[in-house]
Amino acid sequence: MDVIKVSKPRKVKGENYKVYCDIDWLGENKSLWLTYPKEFDSYVDSSSVDWVATALLIPAMLAKSDLIISGTISSSLYYFLCSDIQKILHIQNPDLSQIKIHVDEMALRCKANDYQSASGFSAGVDSFSSLALLGDSQALKPNYLATLNVGAMGKGDNARKMLKKYATRLTEFCVNHNYKPLIIDSNIDEFFEGLSYQATHSIRSAAAILALGGAISRYYYSSTFEYPSIGVSKTYDMSYADPILLPLFSTEATEFRAIGTNLSRLQKVELISDYETSYKYLDVCVGDPAKRLKSDIPNCSQCWKCSRQLMTLELLGSLEQYSDVFDLEKYHANKQSIVFKHMMNVLLPNRPNDWDVIKLAELKGVMNKSNIKALIRASKLSWRLRRFIANKLAKTYTESI
Ligand SMILES: [Zn+2]
Repeated sequence: MDVIKVSKPRKVKGENYKVYCDIDWLGENKSLWLTYPKEFDSYVDSSSVDWVATALLIPAMLAKSDLIISGTISSSLYYFLCSDIQKILHIQNPDLSQIKIHVDEMALRCKANDYQSASGFSAGVDSFSSLALLGDSQALKPNYLATLNVGAMGKGDNARKMLKKYATRLTEFCVNHNYKPLIIDSNIDEFFEGLSYQATHSIRSAAAILALGGAISRYYYSSTFEYPSIGVSKTYDMSYADPILLPLFSTEATEFRAIGTNLSRLQKVELISDYETSYKYLDVCVGDPAKRLKSDIPNCSQCWKCSRQLMTLELLGSLEQYSDVFDLEKYHANKQSIVFKHMMNVLLPNRPNDWDVIKLAELKGVMNKSNIKALIRASKLSWRLRRFIANKLAKTYTESI
């Protein structure tokens, strides 16, 4: 089997605090790097490769190449990276092959004396529902909110600009709501060529947090799906396994936990629509990063995630509360085509979060019992039939609301 060789990480202090390592990637010279806030510098251990092994595992499995990494790794993390985690990743994506990981030494990680907790923060429904769940209790409230550039912000310069925009938003939000901002930039995404962010996001975020050593003792990662959908199977979205997978990234010092798996998408939207904090910040958009960068409002109001959110808020009677973050005029003027996008997703198999909107529409009397399972079966027959059914559903929705 081919091998990928990784040098021991080194720290550099320039404009940013940065840790990086050189990589001989099957004969090509590359480097993997990550920046972190200055206050974490004393916790970032340059001999630790916990974050490196985690970040490179999927790319190495895709390249069918063993990893030889110079440095020390957490005993617990090493065990699971070599066993259960690879098993789960292979089931989710059969193109990923079992590999071996070689490191210099194993170590037991220690929590910092003044360890802190953190929660991921993208300003989406999952993030805000996590804050609504955790934020009321001083014992559970995370100290830090983290915005990580590990691939969700597009590529190259645009990603850096997007991170800057998000960092400003996060800092403002933290000042107003008594959290501390944790902003990490990285080039982790460069190693995931050919793999979607959605299929790999949890492991990328875990890698970034592991670079901070024992400073973060608990990291909450917001769940995308509710318990009945959780499991390990071939999928386009790693989140289906989050509550199973995330704890396996834990070390002796840092624990990863999924939060919000007990709630459906609909329950989360209901929860945050009573949570005023979300009104001026909610950002669910997955539209073109270049366009989002130029826009004054965070949501494009027409991508598939915006469509789902707008419909849900409309059905709950909460649309106007979010007029600062969505273009409601655009939504009302183009409702049928925006709703059509959502209906096309509803007609795909295994889309529980998208079905929820239909169930709510039925409950509110906006749509009649649509027998969605039969429609999904019919949609499998041809793409043209799927478009036809989605169009009919969008028309019914638009005319009845
Ligand atoms: Zn959007």
